[in-house]
Amino acid sequence: MIQIFDGHNDALTREDYARFAQGRPGGHLDLPKMRAGGIRGAIFSIFTPSRGSRHSALPRQDGVLEFRYDQPVSHARAAAHATAAAGRLHDLELTGHLRLARGIGDLDQAFADDGPPAAVLHLEGAEAIDPELEALELWYAAGLRSLGPVWSRANAFGHGVPFISPATPDHGPGLSEAGKALVRRCSELGILVDLSHLNEAGFWDAARLAPGPLVATHSAAHALCASSRNLTDAQLQAIGASGGVVGIVFACSFLRPDFADDVDTPLHLIATHAQYVADRVGVDHVALGSDFDGTTVPRGLDAGTMPGLLEVIARAGFDTGELEAIAWGNWRRVLAEWWGS
Ligand code: ZN
Repeated sequence: MIQIFDGHNDALTREDYARFAQGRPGGHLDLPKMRAGGIRGAIFSIFTPSRGSRHSALPRQDGVLEFRYDQPVSHARAAAHATAAAGRLHDLELTGHLRLARGIGDLDQAFADDGPPAAVLHLEGAEAIDPELEALELWYAAGLRSLGPVWSRANAFGHGVPFISPATPDHGPGLSEAGKALVRRCSELGILVDLSHLNEAGFWDAARLAPGPLVATHSAAHALCASSRNLTDAQLQAIGASGGVVGIVFACSFLRPDFADDVDTPLHLIATHAQYVADRVGVDHVALGSDFDGTTVPRGLDAGTMPGLLEVIARAGFDTGELEAIAWGNWRRVLAEWWGS
């Protein structure tokens, strides 16, 4: 079985996270499913939702589909919420169910042995970090190795891209001074900076700082699905030129040209986006970033059925070496560069 690294899941902040180790009916990713599907490493996201926010579409008069996520989250609330969620990951490590990846050697070990899969601790939106960045060192010490400065809303560091379809990612101003300092400090410490939820101005601000290979952990190609959350060809070029990766997201509404949030979405659309990025900038820059437990994915797809997805991707025209690069090799290269070993 081809071993897999998955660039984004929300399993830690699901209400039934306590059943992660034994398996959760209805969930996308848990320990038994990771083992069944060959996922030996994954980025585990910690996301603090806005108060009262609902994932419901607001159709506008012009027919454009818009999801508003504009309520900011306070540092105090995010810090409390994220600390508890990070504690869950440490508990899973203490009880021998996962190992926390603090360096590339931990991932290599997980891909070489039969022990617990490896988890990369990720903050999706950096509200839990104060704008002076004092908490960043503590989070690093606690194992934080990946961070998105913003989710799809504004915070002290920048402006997330709203969910609008169809639309470009170009909404709002770029990174604040605190946001630029955060990107620089993450680069120094060895914390991957995820660009997936940044608006376009913020994306280019981060790119200009050249903090490391540019990474969008869970996004797709704007040319195939013109959602504001997807990457334009220019953004794909920048990611490729920097040696980075795009984790192709499995979210139906970011894959389909009609943006429908519908489980009856063909699996091969994931392969189509992978093929597009490969044709555009090279297969070395294609990876996987499911967004399991955080979105609607095609029916039947979960962590346990990943081998079936790999078969579908292979049929799109990738050979075994390329498939292994998409499944793990490209992530490994990029993470090793960010983490400095
Ligand atoms: Zn996300």
